[in-house]
Amino acid sequence: MKLYTKIIIGMSAGVIFGLLAKQFGFGPRAAAWVEPLGKIFIRLITMVVVPLVVASITLGTASLGSLKKLGRIGAKTLAYYMVTTALAITIGLTLANLVKPGAGLDENVKAQLLQDYQSTAQEQITKSASRKPIDLLLNIVPTNPIKAMAEGEMLGLIFFSLALGIALTYLPVARSQPVLNFLDGVNEAIIQLVHLIMKFAPYGVFGLMAAVVGKFGFDILLTLLKYSLVVLAGLALQMLLIYTLSVRFIGGIHPIRFFKGMRPAHLIAFSTSSSNATLPVNIQCCEENLGLPKEICSFVLPLGATINMDGTALLQGVVAVFIAQVYGISLTINDQMVIMLTATLASVGAAGVPSAGIVMLTMILQPIGLPLEGIGLILGVDRLLDMCRTVVNITGDATCAAFIARSERVSGLTASQKEIPKPELVAEG
Ligand code: ASP
Repeated sequence: MKLYTKIIIGMSAGVIFGLLAKQFGFGPRAAAWVEPLGKIFIRLITMVVVPLVVASITLGTASLGSLKKLGRIGAKTLAYYMVTTALAITIGLTLANLVKPGAGLDENVKAQLLQDYQSTAQEQITKSASRKPIDLLLNIVPTNPIKAMAEGEMLGLIFFSLALGIALTYLPVARSQPVLNFLDGVNEAIIQLVHLIMKFAPYGVFGLMAAVVGKFGFDILLTLLKYSLVVLAGLALQMLLIYTLSVRFIGGIHPIRFFKGMRPAHLIAFSTSSSNATLPVNIQCCEENLGLPKEICSFVLPLGATINMDGTALLQGVVAVFIAQVYGISLTINDQMVIMLTATLASVGAAGVPSAGIVMLTMILQPIGLPLEGIGLILGVDRLLDMCRTVVNITGDATCAAFIARSERVSGLTASQKEIPKPELVAEG
């Protein structure tokens, strides 16, 4: 049986198990039983992220060969990420203004939600109060790369690996080649490790899905049905319109082939709600299933997992308008422009882990004077929406890899990829 099918079965079994457990009144207890399975899977797949990022970015940068080329690719990647994020926020704001999910929210539901999630909302507000935008900039340069690795500070890691890759290109080949050979070996070993870890994926996603459904159920979506539908419709538009057009016309890949090739990454993003944890599988799907060049994937995808979160930005736009509507505060065009800007920054600053987008919400609400406790309104449904927006987040990164590959006119498998034995994900994807 294909791995993809096994993961779908694991997910469905998890949903059924969670629903039954909730139905018979032991949802949270059952969630606690099966959650370790999911946690082990997330830990396994996250385990490879740091070495993979360091090895693949250093190698990728060194194999680009010139600083000029790196600068060109870097500029195009950033521009693409900014444009798609702006489009995502525009979709979110437009839908929220048209559908008005927050207008006429039942007063009892509002009071109940605010009461239920008051303390969690306060936690998020306190967490985000300690984050200053300037820190985001400063943290790009790590004082100690080993510390950045130990703490999983992705931006710092990316910066260090880029710098190391550039430095290697200045060395004579006799000096740089052993280092590159070593990193190439590490890189390939990690890719094989990801294949092994993926064998556990069906059980891991079973645990993850059963725990989420057992704890939250789907009824919670009904309390905020309009809001949830607006978010889901926005995410669907971003996927089916923006990304489809992008891969078709600027990435040069048939959308069906693209979405088919991305299936394993989609399933992992959906069940883990973490762009970081999905990164190894995303790299694998882009390189092996879509045939995108290794040196481009290894630069564009880790950067995207860290700074490009279109789904998160879209959600943040909808949340701001939703909270304004619930509290009867009207937002001017100027306010909405501010949301565009702050949501872009907030999505850049959000880490690729579950709920990170929510931690950044104060950055958007505060400048336009919206009540921060409003965050409590959407916390209950957020776990489920997080799963969907993470799928969008990682898809955006892959569309960028397709765009860069085409614009640099390199496609097909690179020499080193050809040497790797045909992995299971390709055969099964
Ligand atoms: N969970 C998202 C991700 O990892 C971030 C977020 O929106 O909370 O991409």
